[in-house]
Amino acid sequence: MNKKKRLAILGSTGSIGTQALEVVAAHPGLFEVEILSAHSNAALLIEQARKFKPNAVVVTDESQYQKVKEALAPTQAKVFAGMAALTDVVQWETVDTVLGAIVGFAGLHSILAAIEAGKTIALANKETLVVAGELVMRRAAEKGVRIIPVDSEHSAIFQCLTGEDAAKVEKIMLTASGGPFLGRKTNYLVNVKASHALQHPNWTMGAKITIDSATLMNKGLEMIEAKWLFGLRNEQIEVVIHPQSILHSFVQFVDGSIKAQMGLPDMKLPIQYALAYPVRLPNDFKRFSFRDFTKLSFDQPDYKTFRNLALAQEAMEKGGNLPCVMNAANEVVVHAFLGNKVGFLEMSEMIEKTMEKVPFVAAPTLADCEHSDHEARAYAAELVKNGQLSVY
Ligand code: NAD
Ligand code: MG
Repeated sequence: MNKKKRLAILGSTGSIGTQALEVVAAHPGLFEVEILSAHSNAALLIEQARKFKPNAVVVTDESQYQKVKEALAPTQAKVFAGMAALTDVVQWETVDTVLGAIVGFAGLHSILAAIEAGKTIALANKETLVVAGELVMRRAAEKGVRIIPVDSEHSAIFQCLTGEDAAKVEKIMLTASGGPFLGRKTNYLVNVKASHALQHPNWTMGAKITIDSATLMNKGLEMIEAKWLFGLRNEQIEVVIHPQSILHSFVQFVDGSIKAQMGLPDMKLPIQYALAYPVRLPNDFKRFSFRDFTKLSFDQPDYKTFRNLALAQEAMEKGGNLPCVMNAANEVVVHAFLGNKVGFLEMSEMIEKTMEKVPFVAAPTLADCEHSDHEARAYAAELVKNGQLSVY
């Protein structure tokens, strides 16, 4: 019998995907790559497929299909194009664990398909839980599927909860580095450009999450992600600024005792933990030393300046399709900000306007989520096109 874990790595060319492949390469006796998927980076996808020899490769941007197919013709890999192919191959019997490392709403359908087929999920794609958390978790419970978080804060909480009774959690504290603009006020933020916002102090990540970290939307998305992953009430979730990114989050129990998980900021650790779960694997990653961190500090987030965090809190509290609407608007404005088409502060204004505009649905179905996503994207794109909101 094949004892290796057979992995589908969705979004293999991204920041999480490439680090996951480093973890796999370090443990050839434990993991085998069954499926690789990427959107448009054909060159890297081809290189990865030659090295890891998957049985299937999916390129979701169909314009890249011919190139990938021709390059991989001499290999054993079957090459497919498009999202429908991806939702099909994740259900193959030869797949044990699916790593969801696609960015944005685009990651939802492949995760849902993997859940339907009973696959274990290692989840980096937090947007999946933001846009349809209730649905995803319900279906996972019905199918007996385990969702193991890859996001460092959620991995920390997951690790703190090991051996504990989840009903004995009083609250969790999600740590946030604060990003490159920690302590800045609106008079500074009004002028920042994408090139500034892309300089994250502690983590090297994909462009979208790096901007979300600068606006604190990332922490807002993570509150909603935590709510669904751990079945928490809104008031049990708190955000704390911790600029050194050493404590990856805390769990406080009903007796006041607090557990935290610590380590240097390196995504390979939560990736390895999720892929190997329940086994803790040895590795040679750099170790934490108290000598390098003589002070660890904690502070309140500035909800007034970083309004995305307040918007996400509102979306979480009101629920329904509002987190989905917020997420869609955020994806649109972040893309526009990366292209220097909107300003840093305008992003929050446009997200807020979209949240006000798209009709509220209290208990959205999957079709409602898709519809809300489309509506919100169209409206936010309109705002971007017309530009110049009140902050200028
Ligand atoms: P990235 O932009 O570096 O990579 C995204 C991957 O998804 C690429 O392989 C890309 O080809 C693929 N992709 C993009 N658009 C797609 C589409 N429309 N259809 C199919 N595939 C598509 O992103 P990342 O930083 O690796 O983040 C991936 C996910 O993990 C995000 O949801 C992010 O929030 C989450 N996450 C990332 C980090 C990190 O350190 N990078 C940490 C925690 C959570
Ligand atoms: Mg995180």
